[in-house]
Amino acid sequence: MQPIDAASFVINGAPRGLSILGATGSIGTQTLDIVRLFPDRLRVRALTAHSNGALLAQQALEFKPDCVALADESGLPGLKEALAGTGIRVLGGMAGLCEAAVMPEVDVVMAAVVGVAGLEPVLAAIRAGKTIALANKETLVVGGALVTTLLQENGSTLIPVDSEHSAIFQCLVGEPAHTIESLTLTASGGPFRTRPAETFASITRAEALNHPNWAMGANITIDSATMMNKGLEVIEARWLFDIEAGQIDVLVHPQSIIHSMVTFSDGSTKAQLGVPDMKVPIQYALSYPNRWPAPHPRVAWSQLKQLDFEAPDLNKFPCLRLAYDALTYGGTAPAILNAANEQAVALFLDDQIRFVDIPRCVEIALEKLASTVQPSYAMLVDADTEARHLVLEHGGGVPD
Ligand code: NAD
Ligand code: MG
Repeated sequence: MQPIDAASFVINGAPRGLSILGATGSIGTQTLDIVRLFPDRLRVRALTAHSNGALLAQQALEFKPDCVALADESGLPGLKEALAGTGIRVLGGMAGLCEAAVMPEVDVVMAAVVGVAGLEPVLAAIRAGKTIALANKETLVVGGALVTTLLQENGSTLIPVDSEHSAIFQCLVGEPAHTIESLTLTASGGPFRTRPAETFASITRAEALNHPNWAMGANITIDSATMMNKGLEVIEARWLFDIEAGQIDVLVHPQSIIHSMVTFSDGSTKAQLGVPDMKVPIQYALSYPNRWPAPHPRVAWSQLKQLDFEAPDLNKFPCLRLAYDALTYGGTAPAILNAANEQAVALFLDDQIRFVDIPRCVEIALEKLASTVQPSYAMLVDADTEARHLVLEHGGGVPD
């Protein structure tokens, strides 16, 4: 991660201009909740969505941004009609998303698009020297090396929003990077932590969408159930904190009170704790290096009976092992892992494959597709497309 110049984040009177990419999703709507709490410190300049033009229009009428962008252009006429006479510019497609990310009025971009679709506008924002509050972990999973180089070249900064990475980021304030010995990412273990592996073949969509601790978008909820989410987070941490895979551990902690930990070279461990509520890391990414007083829920310590920990079961949750493998292979392997997983999750959500087929699809893609070293953006896009095709070809017919 780029060294952070704390002085440049101090608010001197003017509200910070905010562009929210993925405003209609779980992170996007919670970001708007934070803006409602701090209207004098944050000013919405741009909002984007994929296809939910109705909600985007409603948000635009409330927050009065300079522009909105809808990725799926078929909804543009309706959006234009809803915003007629407001003076709000209406943009479309990926070009519209990128424009919403680079506007001069924007200081901070909340990158909250789901999936690899979030990469291109983040690259545009980095090139424009913006500060990026990064929820879209796929940006670093797919384009980690490329993004890191671009950040250095453009003097741009990424601030993590993902709760585990925000926890680590908060533990690292004031600590020199060379004193980090290891990072411990905590994982809730998802809804199937205690379910016997023999019954995994019959897991339904509704069961997988029922996360015990966090309310999130559908994709990340399924990724939490397969533990691919933790695998993606290991790769995200590798790039955010410039640390080797061997120094990143995963620890199952079902209560999700400890959000993650850092162990330092003198044997001391720091952890960040709190109620599982994304509003805290979202707000911290926007207030850093300050903390703004807010009414988010507090842990009732005296009622907290115990904190449990266990090692992850890599046999039950092969996706986590596959993510470590992809990180070790490097090059385009994490892009292949991510694309195969996104496609497999889409097929599972569409009732076309079983839960247990998701890791198999990913494993087949990693086995069959060659990884390219030091990939360009175009090579990453090709790897993504190839992996999706491969999964679609195998579909539900993944061999036993
Ligand atoms: P979501 O599905 O609730 O929302 C996704 C948003 O992205 C929506 O606004 C949608 O319109 C937009 N979008 C989807 N596809 C798009 C496309 N092709 N082009 C342009 N826009 C598109 O997802 P979410 O749960 O808010 O997650 C967003 C990101 O944040 C993901 O990368 C996820 O891994 C990460 N994240 C989420 C949480 C959480 O609690 N929800 C926690 C940590 C990290
Ligand atoms: Mg997380």
